[in-house]
Amino acid sequence: MLGISIYNLVLISYNCQQSLSLIIAQKPIINGHLPTEKPLHSRKPLILATFSLQLTNIGESMEISDLVDLDLAEKAASKGLCYHCLGRQFAKHGHGMSNKERGFYLRNALISHLADESAKQKVVREPSECWLCSGLFNELPKFSEIVIKKLDPYQYDTFLIGSKIDAEIMDREERLWGELGNQHYEPIKAEINREVGKLVEAKVKKTVNFENPDITAVIDTRFDSVELQITPLFLYGRYKKLIRGIPQTRWDCKDCWGKGCEKCNYTGKMYDTSIEEIIAKVVMDDTKGADHSFHGMGREDIDARMLGNGRPFILEIKIPIKRHLELKKLEKRINLHSEGMVEVSDIRKSSKEEVVAIKDAKVLKTYDVEVEFAEPIKHAKLKEVVRAFKDRTIEQKTPKRVLHRRADKTRKRMVKDIDIETVDDKKAKFTITGESGIYVKELVHGDEGRTKPSIAEYLDVKCNIKTLDVMHIHDEDGGK
Ligand SMILES: [Zn+2]
Ligand SMILES: [Zn+2]
Repeated sequence: MLGISIYNLVLISYNCQQSLSLIIAQKPIINGHLPTEKPLHSRKPLILATFSLQLTNIGESMEISDLVDLDLAEKAASKGLCYHCLGRQFAKHGHGMSNKERGFYLRNALISHLADESAKQKVVREPSECWLCSGLFNELPKFSEIVIKKLDPYQYDTFLIGSKIDAEIMDREERLWGELGNQHYEPIKAEINREVGKLVEAKVKKTVNFENPDITAVIDTRFDSVELQITPLFLYGRYKKLIRGIPQTRWDCKDCWGKGCEKCNYTGKMYDTSIEEIIAKVVMDDTKGADHSFHGMGREDIDARMLGNGRPFILEIKIPIKRHLELKKLEKRINLHSEGMVEVSDIRKSSKEEVVAIKDAKVLKTYDVEVEFAEPIKHAKLKEVVRAFKDRTIEQKTPKRVLHRRADKTRKRMVKDIDIETVDDKKAKFTITGESGIYVKELVHGDEGRTKPSIAEYLDVKCNIKTLDVMHIHDEDGGK
């Protein structure tokens, strides 16, 4: 006898979740050792492992061999598998142990179970080189070192390990699944990722995160190389645009598409600067990112200011090296460097999901429009505009000024509220609250009949828009 039976199957328990548990208890070791750093006898408690099988129909009589298919285990072990690869074929049996431990228990269970001496000889030892992984699991410490070195320049709190594994290994693994016909395996990638993750976690004192890691490190086990996927950093804030004449985001020169030409003074841009560039410059200094994108909750016209409570935005910093930011200080520095063009507030960390929410947000907006009439208008007539347009739905064809870049279609928008302040008989200020996407300028001047009804049409006078400002964005965070 090679080993004295180390394990006895002592208890089959049926618990209320309709699962059968087979508890393997440990007897004192007389011969054999666990292939881990820790000696087996130091392990407590005495009960080592619970093998459980989820069964939909519990048969009346249950034999042990129905629970852990030792024939399958024998078949797998006799392929010449390392403990990792053997345990992994039955990974869904038993909790709270690694595949390596599971493989060890299984091999020992086989040793005590098999009567036939030659069958026993086939499974008794861990082979010097595993038929399946060719010793890949011996390389885990090396992989973890490569990952740690690669991660070193970056600030991060969470990470995830991914891997690319030799096609031949994956192929052998799939063949084995076919041969065993066993559904309780785990793919080799999952184990490599998890085991390297554990080693890295212990070394760098950061945590693995499956949902939303700061960095994903993908190991290519064939070339001992690691590629990093750095999650962008998302910062939420609200901006005010205090001057007219700058766009929200960088506009490439129409002539050279950003390359730089005579027309754009070799800047590649239509405008010297933008809200995005003003804010991003400071954030890029802090994060050492590679690039940025700007996501606004809508955008105002270039000639309009954005005042009041400011417009929500999310700045996305790509490949940030630093992501631990002092946000209050950052906010102050942006405002200091914006030269009175832009003011930001409410800066906080955000997410990719919030970008979608901000882009899709349909919120009311309030505008101030200063209008000059071609002819004097009586105050009483002007007052009627309020009654005529409040809570009124208007139809707007795509304005002529944006027709070159947007499809020509008609849309309906509601004017929620309107208020008028007379300056003199040829000037007035309208305060208009409208549904998301309303073309306010066109509501006032009518766009040659493309918006119906319009204030110009109603007053029967040509309306010139002197200034337009966005005064309030009525989003949930925006306050009153
Ligand atoms: Zn192996
Ligand atoms: Zn150009």
